[in-house]
Amino acid sequence: TIRTRFAPSPTGFLHIGGARTALFSWAYARRHGGRFILRIEDTDVARSTPEAVQAIIDGMQWLGLNHDEGPYYQMQRMPRYREVIAQMLAAGTAYHCYMSREELDQLRAEQEARKEKPRYDGRWRPEPGKTLPEPPAGVKPVVRFRNSQTGVVAWDDQVKGRVEIANGELDDFIIARDDGTPTYNFCVVVDDWDMDITHVIRGDDHVNNTPRQINVLQALGATVPQYAHLSMILGDDGQKLSKRHGAVSVMQYDEAGYLPEAVLNYLARLGWSHGDDEIFGMEQFCNWFDLDHITASAAQFNTEKLNWLNAHYLKAADDARLLAEVARRLRAQGVDVDAASVPDLDLKPVIALYKERVGNLNELADAVHPFLLAPRPSAELAAQHLTEPARAALGALRGKLAALDDWQAAALNQAIKDTAKEQGLKMPQVAIPLRVVLLGQPQSPSIDAVLAAMGRARVLARLDRQLA
Ligand code: GLU
Repeated sequence: TIRTRFAPSPTGFLHIGGARTALFSWAYARRHGGRFILRIEDTDVARSTPEAVQAIIDGMQWLGLNHDEGPYYQMQRMPRYREVIAQMLAAGTAYHCYMSREELDQLRAEQEARKEKPRYDGRWRPEPGKTLPEPPAGVKPVVRFRNSQTGVVAWDDQVKGRVEIANGELDDFIIARDDGTPTYNFCVVVDDWDMDITHVIRGDDHVNNTPRQINVLQALGATVPQYAHLSMILGDDGQKLSKRHGAVSVMQYDEAGYLPEAVLNYLARLGWSHGDDEIFGMEQFCNWFDLDHITASAAQFNTEKLNWLNAHYLKAADDARLLAEVARRLRAQGVDVDAASVPDLDLKPVIALYKERVGNLNELADAVHPFLLAPRPSAELAAQHLTEPARAALGALRGKLAALDDWQAAALNQAIKDTAKEQGLKMPQVAIPLRVVLLGQPQSPSIDAVLAAMGRARVLARLDRQLA
């Protein structure tokens, strides 16, 4: 079976690039009836925090990228790494190196003077017929991988195509530090091996690690997985995506009022395509997703397109669900939604009225807010719109509304029309002051729809308060 993994380092939030990597790994497993594994690469203890682990898990949960196994934590696998290191030392695929810090610095300086790339010179590497010096007393050795110095290491990257590196380019890298802790590249190898990972889908910032990882896998007799290195994501401005571009964490998209399905749909198209299809849900995506259609060039973030998708998914979303989202946002603003909903205000028609007109959930919450809590029009708006003739018209309208049999848009519209005619006004000369009284603002969707959604009790109460 296909087994993929997402292996974040918990040093920050789940950002957009990480979320896209997770999405592709998840979708590939789903597509093939495989397993998706979450692995937390927390060996950088100085930079890893439990809050970051939680933020990553929260982000994945918000997106619905559920894992089938894990999370595994590398810090909990230390005994296993030590065991493999001992096996490699015994097998001669790794060796102790007693080079001191000073010797290393000296070597680096010499190489720099000769304008060479810094690389280990193999002085402790065992070779047939070579006599190694006596290990110096009191020096704790590091463990180095004995990388072949001949031939090439190659793989068919599912995104980049064939990649070949001469082994002579790779020095014997450290797999365990002098305190015995394993290094990053080594832990990844042991994990991918132990976890039977068949497809490594990750950012191409790791492409330089791959030849080393493949060599260690081969030294261990492990099956080498397929690799797919995703090109990076650029910001709207063509620069490498970073904090400067606003949202760093996927949860900031939640805060900004995006629906997770919009973000997912957006991410799915970020470096992958299925013909001209732009709008599709995750079930469809999982049926389509393949590695062949991942683009090798960098993908550019496009906020406008994300906004367009968000507006689409807002329109399509169920009113009750949107109401729950809006209530969560209003509560966070300190609005006591339950108290403000008394006497019973059914907000679903309000949601239905506005969800086609807003770009995100925060705007939807802003639109719902005045339906819950009567706003006070500003002095300026009142002076401009609540003139004597307007107040007289609203008073007359109040009488009609109170007597109306049928609280429906058509009848409401007729009542406003009749009032305007009787008062010698044009319809907007009634409708705009009415908006100011009911919503604290002169614009809104069609006034009869607003009245219908607000309900008679609230409309009359707000008119009374304003006209008193
Ligand atoms: N922990 C690495 C990162 O967060 C990913 C390693 C991998 O996927 O092999 O960039």
